[in-house]
Amino acid sequence: MVVAHEVHKYYGGFHALKGVSLQVAAGEVTCIVGPSGSGKSTFLRCINQLEKTDGGAIWLGGDLLGYRRKGDELRELSDADIARQRLASGMVFQRFNLFGHMTALQNIMEGPVVVQKRKRAEVRVEAEALLERVGLAGKANAYPSELSGGQQQRVAIARALAMKPKLMLFDEPTSALDPELVGEVLAVMKNLAQSGMTMIVVTHELGFAREVSNRVVFMDQGQIIEAGTPAEVLSTPQHPRTREFIAAIL
Ligand code: ATP
Ligand code: MG
Repeated sequence: MVVAHEVHKYYGGFHALKGVSLQVAAGEVTCIVGPSGSGKSTFLRCINQLEKTDGGAIWLGGDLLGYRRKGDELRELSDADIARQRLASGMVFQRFNLFGHMTALQNIMEGPVVVQKRKRAEVRVEAEALLERVGLAGKANAYPSELSGGQQQRVAIARALAMKPKLMLFDEPTSALDPELVGEVLAVMKNLAQSGMTMIVVTHELGFAREVSNRVVFMDQGQIIEAGTPAEVLSTPQHPRTREFIAAIL
């Protein structure tokens, strides 16, 4: 589903991703862990094309992201083509960034109606089903300010799912939440994983990583230092930096 090959990213002179390669098969959940500044968000943002890569390549569902082949050359895609490709992945951020002036239901309907130009009535039925799926059937008409952080984050997940993405990206989706609200968001993510969604999740919730993910990847200083099953990486890490990191957050 996702193949990243030797991805490089520079911010000015700063080398933020130094040849990151990762493969995620359809239906798999990969968790990315690593210290602050290691490039985790940057990598997700490259997959979602919020950032342009400066080397290497990323394929999503067989499509090369950001470029097309013209003979032997690679040409950058137009903004419209990139926008179209971006719909293949849904992203959930640390901060919920819902539209504050719209209800939960309107937030979920916005993308399919405005971007995908789908019929409002049909989208509404799907949006209501999505609200139920994230445990918020009764909150359709609530505004974000009337919802807890955990509820807002669940609306954000439903909103991303409304676009029917092939891949879901989560960037520390629970780290801005009060501790008692973390579980409800992780439960929704676990359900989503069990329904067969392909997911890449940046998280420090090692319990979630252990229980739900197929693979865990440890990043440090713009590189993948270690990757393997949750048991391999979390219980018997091979690299000293992985060991140090896991010891520090347990
Ligand atoms: P955190 O756990 O704190 O979220 P992260 O692993 O997600 O960290 P990134 O946000 O990907 O790390 O950042 C990787 C490096 O790139 C950091 O050193 C950061 O300062 C730098 N960086 C990120 N975004 C930019 C930007 N827009 N301009 C310049 N440097 C940036
Ligand atoms: Mg980050």
